[in-house]
Amino acid sequence: MSGATFVGMPAFPVAAHEALGNAQLRHNLAHATGTIRAKRQRLVDEVNANSDWEELRLAGAGVKESALRDLGNQLELLEQTLTANGATVHWANDAAEANAIVAAITKAHGVDEVVKVKSMVTQEIGLNEALEAEGIAAWETDLAELIVQLGDDLPSHILVPAIHRNRSEIREIFRARMGAVGLAAPADLTDEPAVLAAAARSHLREKFLRAKVGVSGANFAVADTGTLVVVESEGNGRMCLTLPEVLISVVGIEKVVPTWDGLDPLLRLLPRSSTGERMNPYTSTWSGVTPGDGPQEVHVVLLDNGRTNALADEVGRQALRCIRCSACLNVCPVYERTGGHAYGSVYPGPIGAILNPLLRGPGADEQVDSLPYASSLCGACFEVCPVLIDIPSVLVDLRAQVVDAHRGGVPKAEALAFKGAAVALSDSRKLAFGERFTRIGLRVARRFGASKWTDARDLPPAPPESFRTWWKRTDGGRS
Ligand code: SF4
Repeated sequence: MSGATFVGMPAFPVAAHEALGNAQLRHNLAHATGTIRAKRQRLVDEVNANSDWEELRLAGAGVKESALRDLGNQLELLEQTLTANGATVHWANDAAEANAIVAAITKAHGVDEVVKVKSMVTQEIGLNEALEAEGIAAWETDLAELIVQLGDDLPSHILVPAIHRNRSEIREIFRARMGAVGLAAPADLTDEPAVLAAAARSHLREKFLRAKVGVSGANFAVADTGTLVVVESEGNGRMCLTLPEVLISVVGIEKVVPTWDGLDPLLRLLPRSSTGERMNPYTSTWSGVTPGDGPQEVHVVLLDNGRTNALADEVGRQALRCIRCSACLNVCPVYERTGGHAYGSVYPGPIGAILNPLLRGPGADEQVDSLPYASSLCGACFEVCPVLIDIPSVLVDLRAQVVDAHRGGVPKAEALAFKGAAVALSDSRKLAFGERFTRIGLRVARRFGASKWTDARDLPPAPPESFRTWWKRTDGGRS
């Protein structure tokens, strides 16, 4: 059961337009993001009362930045320490390689199912679909991911993938779908959160106890100790990481942090920024294989999939500092109105608007190219980002890259207008000459109605005369 995919999603303006027609979606999003925003702010204020949130942000950004600046060495060290701890390290250049590695390991153990910890990177590479094509079922065990999977749906938020669903919708999904893939929901299922959680717990427990192979991502990978870290809220991750005989962790290469101490600011920033909690409820760390305790075969797949391209982007590389807290989604006025599906990717919201083009390259396709424009550039995302990613600056730079990627061929009206402006502004006589046509152009535009520009903005009326004409006529305002 792999669920729907983002393949073939329309460009952001089209998808956003459709999403804006869904009043229930906007209601669910406003309620959920408003609640998380308020919780986060309370905890940031609490930190500021005793120390300094900004210093903590600087420390967290510094840890991630130091790893990225020395990425080659840090990854080599990580491979050495993981191997010394008994893990097997695999390198995957892209999604196809990573999926093939996971499928081969699973098949080698003669099983046809795996249990999964919530993991963005395995969604990024389409692991569930790839495993399904090989006859292997991948069961999501995070509550929200389970809702998405059972509903044959798509995630719409980094932290709360089913944020677009309300309680009664979830009850209907559980009632209709659980029985087809395992233990059915009880007949008297209500939409009380505790009752829904209990139904999910029973449904998942038989899968946990049966599974031979677990699949995870990692929030962090500590190079000097060869330790992977997963943070989660439900305990399902702890079950996946400890019960199966075999554990396969797919880890983006940007997850590396140099030292164990480096986790300190990051593990203080992440829960406060994501769920609005002082501490994460379940923080699991594992360093390879421990005889007689937990999985006895541990594989780590280190994945590039566009990350080295992103690293080569001088402005955009800061996006690789992202710790997937989702704070930028929760403050974004665009995300709050359109929801995550409109971004056409597992990475929605402001971080998705920069990460997807960086990973796939500007000019990749119309959908990816539309994302840097999915922002009002209000800057709220930068203000809350715990690792100081200047998302608005990256968005502006990516817009330029998208324009550059489409240079050549028939020039667009906007390009012609800016070329004309460049010529006019280079010489005062040309500017004086051009002003006459500007006024005519404004009158024509007002007369013949809407363009994409005037659809969303007021077009000022053309002034009766230019400043130069007025200056000459009035002798600089003296007559
Ligand atoms: S960009 Fe910053 S705020 Fe957004 S998810 Fe990443 S770390 Fe969190």
